[in-house]
Amino acid sequence: MTEQRKNVLSCIQPTGHMHFGNYFGAVKNWVDLQEKYDCVYGVVDYHAMTMPYNPEKLRQNSWDIILNLVAVGVQPENLFIQSYIPEHTELGWIFNCFTSYGQLTRMTQFKDKSSQVEDKSKDSFISAGLFDYPVLQAADILIYKADYVPVGKDQGQHLELSRNIAQRFNNMVGKEYFVLPETLYTEVPKVMSTADPTRKMSKSAGEKHYINVFGEEARIRKQVKSAVTDAGASTMDVDATTGQREKGAGVQNLFKLLEACGKLDAHQALETKYNEDTLSYGELKGEVAEALVEQSAKFVAKKSELKANKKEIKYKIQQSSAEIRKRAQQTLKEVRQLTGLTNLKL
Ligand code: ADP
Repeated sequence: MTEQRKNVLSCIQPTGHMHFGNYFGAVKNWVDLQEKYDCVYGVVDYHAMTMPYNPEKLRQNSWDIILNLVAVGVQPENLFIQSYIPEHTELGWIFNCFTSYGQLTRMTQFKDKSSQVEDKSKDSFISAGLFDYPVLQAADILIYKADYVPVGKDQGQHLELSRNIAQRFNNMVGKEYFVLPETLYTEVPKVMSTADPTRKMSKSAGEKHYINVFGEEARIRKQVKSAVTDAGASTMDVDATTGQREKGAGVQNLFKLLEACGKLDAHQALETKYNEDTLSYGELKGEVAEALVEQSAKFVAKKSELKANKKEIKYKIQQSSAEIRKRAQQTLKEVRQLTGLTNLKL
């Protein structure tokens, strides 16, 4: 008998570009996991409505991120667009009733994101959706009974909330209905902004705080060149057990990026220089820029091939969403039964 493959789910918001934080923190894992697990990956357009947005742009961004995901190696049959599967929002509502208000108020992502919204005019306000989106996220995950969720470290707290909701639901219905999902982190679960290495690389923080995987080569080089580093190795302490010099956040982030690009020899050589206090940050930045540009060029070339077949890809995603929806519908049918809602028998 063949062992049943475990389920994997993860999602990305269509809020503009895919940056190297998304890629090295999560999406790279999505690609690799497809070999071993049953994977479904969502472009979560309902989530993208939680911050101020433009409707036409949202639709464009959804298709653009689909092309990006396929270009980096995600298989179209594993992809869905969230709003094609309205069962997510139905389960989200049910989960609202299994979520404590107090726990939601402790979500650091809400604090971060709401502080970026100017809550002063009718066009820009902190929406109830932003407050509630971790509950919809729990529905995204649990509706597919996901065993593993490959995300960046920034989503760890939300994953814990999903587990709490699943647990509370299971307690109420008196059986282990929902699987408690586990997070899968990459080697670089938190990529920092090169402009301010004390905060994570992120789209919502503004243009200088993320490096676009599909961006222009000159811009990638410029962003790396102007990366914030610290005063110099000699100012950092030496770790007594390893004999290695500690690194400031900016330098550490650059080393991590180099490693994430698979440039292990260059990483090793520069690390040695760093420990000897002979490393010039110009050299480090040069290697990092080269490595990112090389990664980016491969993906950009693939994306322009895909653009020629955009219609075909759109059709495939509609088909795959319909196929993936069947699983969500089955879960909802069972959940309605378990929670005392009236199931339609037509
Ligand atoms: P953003 O935070 O830029 O709006 P999303 O919320 O769409 O991006 O996140 C998509 C995936 O990318 C999630 O799994 C998230 O954890 C991951 N991710 C986002 N930013 C980073 C980062 N700086 N480092 C590592 N992973 C990240």
